Amino acid sequence: MTPPSSVHVVGGGWAGLAAAVELARNNVHVTLLEASRQLGGRARRVPFDDIGVDNGQHLMIGAYRETLALLQALHAPNAPPVLRAPLSLTLLNANYGFRLAAPRLPAPLHLLAALLLATGLSFTQRLSALNFCVAMAVHKFSLEQDISVAELLKRYRQHGRLTECLWEPLCLATLNTPLELASAEVFLTVLRDAFTQARGDSDLVFSKTDLGALVPDPLVDFIETRGGHVLLGERVTALQFDGDTLSGLETSVQPHRASRVILATPAYATHRLVQEQPRLQQLAGALSSFDYQPICTVYLKYAPSVSLGQMLIGMTGGFTQWLFDRGHCGQPGIMAAVISAHGNHMNLDNETLVRHVTSEISSHFPHWPLPLRNFVVREKRATFTCKVGINATRPDEATAINGLWIAGDYTNTGYPATLEGAVRSGMRAARAVLMNLR
Ligand SMILES: Cc1cc2nc3c(=O)[nH]c(=O)nc-3n(C[C@H](O)[C@H](O)[C@H](O)COP(=O)(O)OP(=O)(O)OC[C@H]3O[C@@H](n4cnc5c(N)ncnc54)[C@H](O)[C@@H]3O)c2cc1C
Repeated sequence: MTPPSSVHVVGGGWAGLAAAVELARNNVHVTLLEASRQLGGRARRVPFDDIGVDNGQHLMIGAYRETLALLQALHAPNAPPVLRAPLSLTLLNANYGFRLAAPRLPAPLHLLAALLLATGLSFTQRLSALNFCVAMAVHKFSLEQDISVAELLKRYRQHGRLTECLWEPLCLATLNTPLELASAEVFLTVLRDAFTQARGDSDLVFSKTDLGALVPDPLVDFIETRGGHVLLGERVTALQFDGDTLSGLETSVQPHRASRVILATPAYATHRLVQEQPRLQQLAGALSSFDYQPICTVYLKYAPSVSLGQMLIGMTGGFTQWLFDRGHCGQPGIMAAVISAHGNHMNLDNETLVRHVTSEISSHFPHWPLPLRNFVVREKRATFTCKVGINATRPDEATAINGLWIAGDYTNTGYPATLEGAVRSGMRAARAVLMNLR
């Protein structure tokens, strides 16, 4: 029997974790190096009072095939702790309410029927949204040249309330980028994958646990029982080369001999590690072209009896964009108010922001008591800005150095910065390494 090969994965975000799982289940000994003291990266557990919440409330959809398969692998033989619900969106505004729910029809009829039956829009607006979807389907959800989502919506006369309560919340939720900057090409990819193939693709998928219990916790056991190691608090500080071939890693703890490495660090961290290597100048140039958008999550702890009556609602006209009820994670009374992308909220101190968010919530739910506690998480580089033309600059997993691959949500998956983008990229890098090992 040939002895197992050995691969180093640098970075324990979901891209690195997915790569590690794919390698380990193919008889590869993985050494996973993570700079911080915990796994999960931008999708990790953080403490709030005596419970674990997430560094930002995350939502998945049924079209996240690789992510759902990863959860299946890590939680076998039990079902992964997630809840799936058919697409249903409620948006509240001071002047109107908007509601859309997908009926049990095959895709894409479920979307078309949902739009036609939506409440809160005029008949003309609903017809206009329908026309837009049909036109995009005719064009196979692709464009000759990338433009902004704002420009695309303008061309198809998606104005006023239609944009305010449908397209803008969808764009911010999926691309975390304002309409004027956001890439229509990436937005259309998301719409195509979520709405056109199977009805279940548009399901909303919620974790029933905090994100730490969903992937990082079971992963450690998965890797270690297959002969690998998970090393926390070990930052990779430099790559070592022998000509055009990778030969090792320097870390904050010890040097490692390494002939195959997946760098699953964020674009800016990968840039620092590759910028001095002459063969990686093109990659370094691509990595330096990314810029970033924040996501701010305000957790509010109400009495356990307080409930939204549904898992999430959207809000427009204030700072709060989405309000999640974490009752579904076994945390009754904990609400997560999510604010995507740059905006004035980033200039407010936490106390003022909490006051605004609480008052916005009270205006829609006047019978709720005041929250007992709050906790604000600001992730300044939550996602890359998914700007026009971004796909042309996103690098592939292979690099110009033998033995070095990259992974991360920013790589060339066609997806915005999401869990699915990260997992897909990790899987792709792992499969490229496995091919190289054959
Ligand atoms: C607040 C917030 C809300 C979000 N909401 C959603 C959502 O609802 N749905 C969704 O699909 N996506 C969401 N996302 C996006 C999603 O979380 C990210 O796209 C995904 O987690 C990125 O994973 P990654 O592995 O590519 O990168 P990261 O998670 O950034 O992982 C990189 C890892 O590398 C480590 N590292 C860096 N440098 C080094 C080094 N030198 N040596 C060793 N380790 C290093 C870091 O510590 C980190 O753990 C959200 C993100 C945030 C921040």
